[in-house]
Amino acid sequence: MTSQIHIDPYSIRLASPLSTARGSITQRRGFLVQIAADSEPSGIGEAAPLPGWTEPYDACEQALRSAASADDPKRSVDPATTPAAAHAIESARLDRAAAAADRSAAEHLRTEVFGSAGDVAGSVPVNATIGGGSIDETVRAATAAVDSGFSCLKLKAGSDGLDSDIDRIRAVREAVSPTVDIRIDANGAWDRETAARAIDALAPLTLEYLEQPLPADDLSGHAELRGRGVPIAVDESLASVGFAEIAEADAADVLVCKPMAIGGPRRTVALAARARAAGIDPVVTTTIDAVVARTTAVHVAAAIPDVRPCGLATASLLETDLGPDPVTVADGRVTVPSGAGIGVETTETNR
Ligand SMILES: [Mg+2]
Repeated sequence: MTSQIHIDPYSIRLASPLSTARGSITQRRGFLVQIAADSEPSGIGEAAPLPGWTEPYDACEQALRSAASADDPKRSVDPATTPAAAHAIESARLDRAAAAADRSAAEHLRTEVFGSAGDVAGSVPVNATIGGGSIDETVRAATAAVDSGFSCLKLKAGSDGLDSDIDRIRAVREAVSPTVDIRIDANGAWDRETAARAIDALAPLTLEYLEQPLPADDLSGHAELRGRGVPIAVDESLASVGFAEIAEADAADVLVCKPMAIGGPRRTVALAARARAAGIDPVVTTTIDAVVARTTAVHVAAAIPDVRPCGLATASLLETDLGPDPVTVADGRVTVPSGAGIGVETTETNR
Protein backbone atom coordinates (compact mmCIF):
# COMPACT_ATOMS: atom_id res chain seq x y z
CA MET A 1 0.00 0.00 0.00
CA THR A 2 1.34 3.38 -0.91
CA SER A 3 0.49 6.42 1.12
CA GLN A 4 0.86 9.94 -0.15
CA ILE A 5 1.44 13.04 1.92
CA HIS A 6 0.29 16.42 0.63
CA ILE A 7 1.66 19.54 2.28
CA ASP A 8 -0.08 22.89 1.87
CA PRO A 9 1.40 26.00 3.47
CA TYR A 10 -1.04 28.51 4.93
CA SER A 11 -0.84 31.97 6.44
CA ILE A 12 -3.56 33.59 8.53
CA ARG A 13 -3.59 37.06 10.06
CA LEU A 14 -4.52 37.50 13.70
CA ALA A 15 -7.58 39.61 14.37
CA SER A 16 -5.30 41.86 16.42
CA PRO A 17 -1.59 41.56 17.33
CA LEU A 18 -0.93 39.30 20.30
CA SER A 19 1.88 40.27 22.62
CA THR A 20 3.93 37.39 23.98
CA ALA A 21 7.11 37.09 25.98
CA ARG A 22 8.90 36.75 22.62
CA GLY A 23 7.42 39.82 21.00
CA SER A 24 4.26 40.53 19.11
CA ILE A 25 2.60 37.96 16.80
CA THR A 26 0.56 39.31 13.89
CA GLN A 27 0.03 36.15 11.85
CA ARG A 28 0.15 32.36 12.09
CA ARG A 29 1.88 30.42 9.37
CA GLY A 30 1.85 26.67 9.11
CA PHE A 31 1.02 23.65 7.02
CA LEU A 32 -1.95 21.45 6.35
CA VAL A 33 -0.89 17.87 5.91
CA GLN A 34 -3.09 15.31 4.24
CA ILE A 35 -2.26 11.62 4.20
CA ALA A 36 -4.09 9.58 1.60
CA ALA A 37 -3.67 5.87 0.94
CA ASP A 38 -5.43 3.81 -1.69
CA SER A 39 -9.04 3.16 -0.73
CA GLU A 40 -8.71 4.02 2.96
CA PRO A 41 -10.05 7.29 4.36
CA SER A 42 -7.59 10.16 4.07
CA GLY A 43 -6.52 12.03 7.18
CA ILE A 44 -5.73 15.66 7.83
CA GLY A 45 -3.39 17.29 10.32
CA GLU A 46 -1.95 20.74 10.97
CA ALA A 47 1.50 21.99 11.84
CA ALA A 48 1.45 25.50 13.32
CA PRO A 49 5.04 26.13 14.42
CA LEU A 50 5.47 28.80 17.07
CA PRO A 51 8.99 29.94 17.94
CA GLY A 52 9.75 29.45 21.60
CA TRP A 53 7.42 26.44 21.72
CA THR A 54 8.25 24.43 18.59
CA GLU A 55 10.76 24.32 15.79
CA PRO A 56 10.85 27.38 13.47
CA TYR A 57 8.75 27.46 10.30
CA ASP A 58 11.58 26.47 7.95
CA ALA A 59 12.63 23.48 10.07
CA CYS A 60 8.99 22.39 10.23
CA GLU A 61 8.65 22.52 6.46
CA GLN A 62 11.89 20.63 5.97
CA ALA A 63 10.79 17.90 8.40
CA LEU A 64 7.43 17.56 6.65
CA ARG A 65 9.00 17.40 3.20
CA SER A 66 11.43 14.69 4.26
CA ALA A 67 8.57 12.79 5.95
CA ALA A 68 6.63 12.95 2.69
CA SER A 69 9.39 11.10 0.88
CA ALA A 70 10.19 8.63 3.69
CA ASP A 71 9.04 5.01 3.80
CA ASP A 72 7.70 5.49 7.32
CA PRO A 73 6.61 9.13 7.72
CA LYS A 74 5.89 8.84 11.44
CA ARG A 75 9.29 7.46 12.34
CA SER A 76 11.08 9.97 10.15
CA VAL A 77 9.86 12.96 12.20
CA ASP A 78 11.37 13.55 15.63
CA PRO A 79 8.80 15.01 18.07
CA ALA A 80 11.59 16.22 20.35
CA THR A 81 13.18 18.48 17.73
CA THR A 82 10.27 19.12 15.32
CA PRO A 83 7.10 18.80 17.44
CA ALA A 84 4.87 20.84 15.10
CA ALA A 85 5.75 18.62 12.12
CA ALA A 86 5.26 15.52 14.27
CA HIS A 87 1.91 16.93 15.41
CA ALA A 88 0.67 17.24 11.83
CA ILE A 89 1.71 13.69 10.89
CA GLU A 90 0.30 12.18 14.09
CA SER A 91 -2.96 14.11 13.70
CA ALA A 92 -3.47 12.97 10.12
CA ARG A 93 -2.82 9.39 11.16
CA LEU A 94 -5.25 9.76 14.07
CA ASP A 95 -7.89 11.23 11.75
CA ARG A 96 -7.57 8.21 9.45
CA ALA A 97 -7.44 5.59 12.19
CA ALA A 98 -10.44 7.03 14.02
CA ALA A 99 -12.41 7.29 10.78
CA ALA A 100 -11.53 3.69 9.91
CA ALA A 101 -12.77 2.62 13.37
CA ASP A 102 -15.89 4.77 12.88
CA ARG A 103 -15.40 6.77 16.05
CA SER A 104 -14.48 10.31 16.91
CA ALA A 105 -10.84 11.20 17.45
CA ALA A 106 -11.66 11.79 21.14
CA GLU A 107 -13.12 8.30 21.51
CA HIS A 108 -10.18 6.83 19.62
CA LEU A 109 -7.62 8.59 21.82
CA ARG A 110 -9.48 7.72 25.03
CA THR A 111 -9.59 4.06 24.01
CA GLU A 112 -5.93 3.94 23.00
CA VAL A 113 -4.59 5.62 26.12
CA PHE A 114 -7.12 4.76 28.84
CA GLY A 115 -8.25 1.37 27.55
CA SER A 116 -11.89 2.15 26.80
CA ALA A 117 -13.84 5.00 25.27
CA GLY A 118 -15.97 5.20 28.39
CA ASP A 119 -18.21 8.19 28.36
CA VAL A 120 -16.55 10.86 26.21
CA ALA A 121 -18.41 14.09 26.90
CA GLY A 122 -20.12 16.03 24.13
CA SER A 123 -18.44 19.22 25.31
CA VAL A 124 -15.39 20.36 27.25
CA PRO A 125 -15.17 23.30 29.70
CA VAL A 126 -12.97 26.17 28.58
CA ASN A 127 -11.59 29.32 30.14
CA ALA A 128 -12.14 32.83 28.87
CA THR A 129 -8.89 34.71 28.38
CA ILE A 130 -9.12 38.26 29.69
CA GLY A 131 -6.67 40.64 28.01
CA GLY A 132 -4.62 43.33 29.70
CA GLY A 133 -5.82 46.86 30.21
CA SER A 134 -6.94 49.10 33.01
CA ILE A 135 -8.72 47.77 36.09
CA ASP A 136 -12.07 48.96 34.71
CA GLU A 137 -11.47 47.36 31.31
CA THR A 138 -10.39 44.09 32.90
CA VAL A 139 -13.40 43.97 35.23
CA ARG A 140 -15.75 44.77 32.32
CA ALA A 141 -14.24 41.99 30.18
CA ALA A 142 -14.36 39.54 33.09
CA THR A 143 -17.99 40.20 33.98
CA ALA A 144 -18.97 40.06 30.29
CA ALA A 145 -17.31 36.62 30.03
CA VAL A 146 -19.12 35.39 33.14
CA ASP A 147 -22.42 36.80 31.84
CA SER A 148 -21.92 34.82 28.62
CA GLY A 149 -21.51 31.59 30.59
CA PHE A 150 -17.80 31.17 31.39
CA SER A 151 -17.06 29.92 34.89
CA CYS A 152 -13.28 30.02 34.49
CA LEU A 153 -11.28 33.17 33.72
CA LYS A 154 -7.64 33.41 32.78
CA LEU A 155 -5.86 36.68 33.50
CA LYS A 156 -2.38 37.59 32.35
CA ALA A 157 0.11 39.04 34.82
CA GLY A 158 3.74 40.05 34.83
CA SER A 159 3.87 42.79 32.23
CA ASP A 160 3.12 45.67 34.62
CA GLY A 161 4.35 46.04 38.16
CA LEU A 162 3.27 43.50 40.75
CA ASP A 163 1.12 45.99 42.66
CA SER A 164 -0.95 46.82 39.60
CA ASP A 165 -1.33 43.10 38.80
CA ILE A 166 -2.59 42.44 42.32
CA ASP A 167 -5.03 45.38 42.17
CA ARG A 168 -6.42 44.12 38.83
CA ILE A 169 -6.77 40.52 40.01
CA ARG A 170 -8.38 41.58 43.29
CA ALA A 171 -10.88 43.81 41.42
CA VAL A 172 -11.92 40.88 39.19
CA ARG A 173 -12.16 38.52 42.17
CA GLU A 174 -14.48 40.98 43.93
CA ALA A 175 -16.57 41.60 40.78
CA VAL A 176 -17.46 38.01 39.95
CA SER A 177 -19.14 35.21 41.90
CA PRO A 178 -16.91 33.21 44.27
CA THR A 179 -17.85 30.12 42.22
CA VAL A 180 -15.97 31.50 39.20
CA ASP A 181 -12.46 30.05 38.96
CA ILE A 182 -9.67 32.51 38.28
CA ARG A 183 -6.31 31.40 36.96
CA ILE A 184 -3.33 33.73 36.50
CA ASP A 185 -0.56 33.34 33.90
CA ALA A 186 2.67 35.23 34.53
CA ASN A 187 4.54 33.65 31.58
CA GLY A 188 7.72 33.33 33.62
CA ALA A 189 8.01 37.07 34.24
CA TRP A 190 8.85 37.07 37.96
CA ASP A 191 11.89 36.32 40.03
CA ARG A 192 11.57 34.22 43.17
CA GLU A 193 11.15 37.16 45.52
CA THR A 194 8.43 38.79 43.39
CA ALA A 195 6.63 35.47 42.97
CA ALA A 196 6.66 34.85 46.72
CA ARG A 197 5.25 38.34 47.33
CA ALA A 198 2.61 37.69 44.65
CA ILE A 199 1.53 34.45 46.30
CA ASP A 200 1.29 36.04 49.74
CA ALA A 201 -0.99 38.72 48.27
CA LEU A 202 -3.02 36.38 46.03
CA ALA A 203 -3.60 33.46 48.41
CA PRO A 204 -6.53 35.14 50.22
CA LEU A 205 -8.26 35.66 46.83
CA THR A 206 -8.80 31.90 46.34
CA LEU A 207 -7.36 31.39 42.86
CA GLU A 208 -7.53 28.19 40.82
CA TYR A 209 -3.81 28.37 40.07
CA LEU A 210 -0.86 30.58 39.21
CA GLU A 211 0.80 29.57 35.95
CA GLN A 212 4.51 29.83 35.26
CA PRO A 213 5.39 32.52 37.80
CA LEU A 214 9.12 31.88 37.30
CA PRO A 215 11.37 31.28 34.29
CA ALA A 216 10.91 27.89 32.61
CA ASP A 217 14.09 26.29 33.93
CA ASP A 218 13.60 27.28 37.57
CA LEU A 219 11.92 24.06 38.67
CA SER A 220 13.13 24.18 42.27
CA GLY A 221 11.77 27.73 42.51
CA HIS A 222 8.34 26.53 41.39
CA ALA A 223 8.54 23.63 43.85
CA GLU A 224 9.20 26.10 46.69
CA LEU A 225 6.13 28.15 45.76
CA ARG A 226 3.79 25.18 46.08
CA GLY A 227 1.69 24.67 49.20
CA ARG A 228 1.50 28.37 50.02
CA GLY A 229 -2.15 28.94 49.19
CA VAL A 230 -2.12 29.12 45.39
CA PRO A 231 -1.62 25.94 43.31
CA ILE A 232 1.22 26.21 40.79
CA ALA A 233 0.94 25.37 37.09
CA VAL A 234 3.79 25.10 34.60
CA ASP A 235 3.56 25.69 30.87
CA GLU A 236 6.80 27.02 29.34
CA SER A 237 8.74 24.57 31.57
CA LEU A 238 7.25 21.60 29.72
CA ALA A 239 8.60 22.75 26.34
CA SER A 240 12.01 23.73 27.64
CA VAL A 241 12.76 21.24 30.42
CA GLY A 242 10.43 18.28 29.97
CA PHE A 243 7.92 16.34 32.03
CA ALA A 244 10.25 13.91 33.79
CA GLU A 245 12.21 16.75 35.35
CA ILE A 246 9.04 18.62 36.35
CA ALA A 247 7.67 15.54 38.10
CA GLU A 248 11.03 14.73 39.68
CA ALA A 249 11.30 18.28 41.07
CA ASP A 250 7.69 18.28 42.41
CA ALA A 251 7.44 21.58 40.57
CA ALA A 252 3.74 21.67 39.69
CA ASP A 253 0.15 20.99 40.70
CA VAL A 254 -1.09 21.53 37.15
CA LEU A 255 0.55 20.86 33.77
CA VAL A 256 -0.40 22.95 30.73
CA CYS A 257 -0.27 20.66 27.69
CA LYS A 258 -0.02 22.15 24.20
CA PRO A 259 -0.35 19.34 21.65
CA MET A 260 1.57 21.38 19.05
CA ALA A 261 4.57 21.72 21.41
CA ILE A 262 4.34 18.14 22.68
CA GLY A 263 4.39 16.66 19.20
CA GLY A 264 0.92 15.27 18.60
CA PRO A 265 -2.52 14.51 19.97
CA ARG A 266 -1.80 10.94 21.09
CA ARG A 267 1.44 11.94 22.76
CA THR A 268 -0.45 14.67 24.60
CA VAL A 269 -3.16 12.36 25.92
CA ALA A 270 -0.49 9.86 26.96
CA LEU A 271 1.42 12.63 28.75
CA ALA A 272 -1.78 13.80 30.46
CA ALA A 273 -2.33 10.25 31.75
CA ARG A 274 1.26 10.14 33.01
CA ALA A 275 0.83 13.51 34.70
CA ARG A 276 -2.40 12.38 36.41
CA ALA A 277 -0.65 9.28 37.67
CA ALA A 278 2.02 11.55 39.17
CA GLY A 279 -0.61 13.72 40.88
CA ILE A 280 -0.32 16.60 38.39
CA ASP A 281 -3.57 17.65 36.73
CA PRO A 282 -3.43 18.37 32.97
CA VAL A 283 -4.95 21.32 31.10
CA VAL A 284 -4.97 21.38 27.28
CA THR A 285 -4.43 24.58 25.31
CA THR A 286 -3.96 25.52 21.68
CA THR A 287 -0.99 27.49 20.35
CA ILE A 288 -3.39 29.86 18.52
CA ASP A 289 -3.85 27.36 15.72
CA ALA A 290 -6.10 27.19 12.68
CA VAL A 291 -9.24 25.07 12.65
CA VAL A 292 -7.62 21.66 12.12
CA ALA A 293 -5.21 21.78 15.06
CA ARG A 294 -7.72 23.61 17.24
CA THR A 295 -10.33 20.92 16.68
CA THR A 296 -7.71 18.23 17.25
CA ALA A 297 -6.90 19.88 20.60
CA VAL A 298 -10.61 19.75 21.51
CA HIS A 299 -10.54 15.97 20.90
CA VAL A 300 -7.38 15.71 23.02
CA ALA A 301 -9.09 17.50 25.91
CA ALA A 302 -12.25 15.41 25.55
CA ALA A 303 -10.17 12.22 25.65
CA ILE A 304 -8.94 13.11 29.15
CA PRO A 305 -11.59 12.06 31.70
CA ASP A 306 -13.06 14.97 33.69
CA VAL A 307 -10.59 17.45 32.30
CA ARG A 308 -10.62 20.84 34.01
CA PRO A 309 -11.30 23.98 31.88
CA CYS A 310 -8.94 24.18 28.93
CA GLY A 311 -7.59 27.00 26.74
CA LEU A 312 -9.36 26.04 23.53
CA ALA A 313 -11.63 28.99 22.77
CA THR A 314 -9.07 30.75 20.58
CA ALA A 315 -10.80 30.82 17.18
CA SER A 316 -11.76 34.47 17.55
CA LEU A 317 -8.10 35.46 17.69
CA LEU A 318 -7.77 34.71 13.96
CA GLU A 319 -9.03 37.01 11.21
CA THR A 320 -9.86 34.14 8.84
CA ASP A 321 -9.59 30.37 8.96
CA LEU A 322 -8.93 27.34 6.77
CA GLY A 323 -12.53 26.16 6.76
CA PRO A 324 -15.77 26.14 8.72
CA ASP A 325 -15.37 25.65 12.47
CA PRO A 326 -17.13 22.44 13.60
CA VAL A 327 -16.70 23.50 17.24
CA THR A 328 -19.04 25.99 18.89
CA VAL A 329 -18.42 27.89 22.12
CA ALA A 330 -21.41 28.34 24.42
CA ASP A 331 -21.90 28.60 28.18
CA GLY A 332 -18.20 28.27 28.84
CA ARG A 333 -17.87 25.00 26.96
CA VAL A 334 -16.76 23.94 23.48
CA THR A 335 -18.57 21.17 21.61
CA VAL A 336 -16.69 18.02 20.62
CA PRO A 337 -17.42 16.93 17.03
CA SER A 338 -19.08 13.53 17.31
CA GLY A 339 -18.62 12.22 13.76
CA ALA A 340 -15.87 9.82 12.75
CA GLY A 341 -12.32 11.18 12.83
CA ILE A 342 -11.38 14.76 13.71
CA GLY A 343 -14.36 16.13 11.81
CA VAL A 344 -12.92 19.12 9.96
CA GLU A 345 -13.51 20.03 6.33
CA THR A 346 -11.00 22.53 5.03
CA THR A 347 -11.76 24.77 2.12
CA GLU A 348 -8.07 25.17 1.26
CA THR A 349 -7.35 21.54 0.51
CA ASN A 350 -10.43 20.37 -1.29
CA ARG A 351 -9.06 17.72 -3.52
MG1 LIG B 1 0.75 29.87 29.64
